[in-house]
Amino acid sequence: MSLYLHNYALSGKPAAIIAQIPCLQDNYGFLIHDVANGKTAAIDTPDAEAINKALSAQGWSLDVIFNTHWHGDHTGGNQVLKDQWGCRIIGPGGERMAIPACDQTIGEGETIALGRLQAKVIETPGHTAGHIVYHFADIAVAFVGDTLFSLGCGRLFEGSAEEMWHSLEKLRALPDNTDIFCAHEYSKANADYALSVDPENRALIERAQQIAELRASHKPTIPSPLGLEKKTNPFLRADSDDMMARLGMQKATPAQVFAHLRQGKDNF
Ligand SMILES: [Zn+2]
Repeated sequence: MSLYLHNYALSGKPAAIIAQIPCLQDNYGFLIHDVANGKTAAIDTPDAEAINKALSAQGWSLDVIFNTHWHGDHTGGNQVLKDQWGCRIIGPGGERMAIPACDQTIGEGETIALGRLQAKVIETPGHTAGHIVYHFADIAVAFVGDTLFSLGCGRLFEGSAEEMWHSLEKLRALPDNTDIFCAHEYSKANADYALSVDPENRALIERAQQIAELRASHKPTIPSPLGLEKKTNPFLRADSDDMMARLGMQKATPAQVFAHLRQGKDNF
């Protein structure tokens, strides 16, 4: 089993370990472990077996599940893991009925604790109507589910382009050093599309090369720092003058430019 570990410190002391678990076709499951008191949360449950293997490899037990949205490749392991660990399951308020074994819902601006770590919830409708993101500001980490991908964004299944653009604007407002943990390894295909709409962007060309090299050796391209996404992700650049000019959409609203880019990706 491949498992990737990321360490985060606070005031020079180890504070959190994030375990990144490739599973299913191209999903990532994540565990976040509070070093101070040993509490562990799963961010979504794409594959209970893969998550259990990671827990046992680390010697951790599962205390809580934080769901980002109701899709089966994010909640499919909820019931099995709850039966096994007796863990609590927290999910978005707007999707309670669709989230298996949900104990508690949470919404915009609310904070949830994992030991000494704190996550603030950001509602990001668009991919699904109730999608939420968990932002751990102290360690500069955001679990963004299927809202933002490296060089991409989620498909609009339950929301308008306007709503998704507003959601992406909220994520874009986070600090540049925020590590973006998205739930799928889509970076290579996203880079191909990004280059087709933003071919002269030097930072994007470099990032696409890095992604190609990482994927050639089967390494993850996730997490990516938000500052780099702001420079290279076409969906976060829908309101930039050069993107609008290149698309001949100088008079359009950012949401219209975003809608055009999203439609282009759907048909790419
Ligand atoms: Zn989804």
